[in-house]
Amino acid sequence: MFEKVTIIGFGLIGSSFAQALKLSGKVTHITAADASQEVCDVVIENGLADEATTDLKQAVTDADIVVLSVPVGAMEAVTKSIAPFLKDGAVLTDTGSVKDAVTKKVAPHLPDHAAFIPAHPIAGTEFSGPLAGFPELFQNRWVILTPLPEAPLRAVEKITEIWELTGANIEIMSPEHHDLILGITSHLPHLIAYTIVGTATNLEEDIQSEVIKYSASGFRDFTRIAASDPTMWRDVFLNNKFAVLEILQRFSEDLTALQRAIRYGDGEYLYQTFEQTRGIRRAIIEAGQADYPVARDPKKASQATS
Ligand code: NAP
Repeated sequence: MFEKVTIIGFGLIGSSFAQALKLSGKVTHITAADASQEVCDVVIENGLADEATTDLKQAVTDADIVVLSVPVGAMEAVTKSIAPFLKDGAVLTDTGSVKDAVTKKVAPHLPDHAAFIPAHPIAGTEFSGPLAGFPELFQNRWVILTPLPEAPLRAVEKITEIWELTGANIEIMSPEHHDLILGITSHLPHLIAYTIVGTATNLEEDIQSEVIKYSASGFRDFTRIAASDPTMWRDVFLNNKFAVLEILQRFSEDLTALQRAIRYGDGEYLYQTFEQTRGIRRAIIEAGQADYPVARDPKKASQATS
């Protein structure tokens, strides 16, 4: 049983986490803290947490677990402002999509009597804000913990236990390894989607309207990913620079190989490449990691933080 859990940054991830914990019945009190009074009002109106406040000091006082669920670029400032008020034995964790940079920005500000266990749920949608959240978001998804070697075992166990209440599976790895893997599986695909949709946006106005009118499923899928929150993704690329640039280099080499195969009519190369990638999709479906249930109210959700 957990007494008081405080979630700072009550958007898609913070709200989903709170709702999943409430449903588990194993957390006595959940406090939502957000920079926006509008978000706090939505939290109370919809019963998404037991209390909501813009006062971070008040929010963390007496909290056993404090979860930073703000954009990666805001983690350091938030940590600095709450660090003096963390109680003895408090465990601070986060949900940031980048782990090495966040660890380096957060850990130095922590008082000796508190522990920091970085975490990243591999779950999400293109929607933002508290109403985008839903309690099933983390079910059967992976949550990666990247504790530093000196992290207290009890703190790692606590963060493992609380994420397991949401139905998630836990994996532990180094922050650098996390950033490389996520660079391939998440950051590069988002960069490609932003590029493709950006290129279509830059087309002449009359061609652009036809792109939208005749958007086949391929382009539509990219527009879904490219609708993801600009603040969050700006911060991801600025904070996972080296891994993303390394993977981007490999990607452009592979793209050049495909370009060459098309130019010289190398059908065998194209077929073999596509056959191999099809196998990856099958493996993802078999692992139960293919699709999400729909967010509760996507229309309201996307408006929630606008
Ligand atoms: P979100 O829906 O945009 O929610 C973030 C919330 O934090 C917003 O309500 C925002 O308020 C608030 N906030 C921003 N700066 C703050 C500050 N200084 N103090 C207090 N509150 C502040 O974002 P999200 O999708 O839940 O993402 C949260 C974190 O989880 C990010 O670090 C992201 O990298 C990570 N993550 C996201 C996904 C995903 O798919 N979305 C998946 C896994 C992990 P305003 O809107 O008023 O700025």
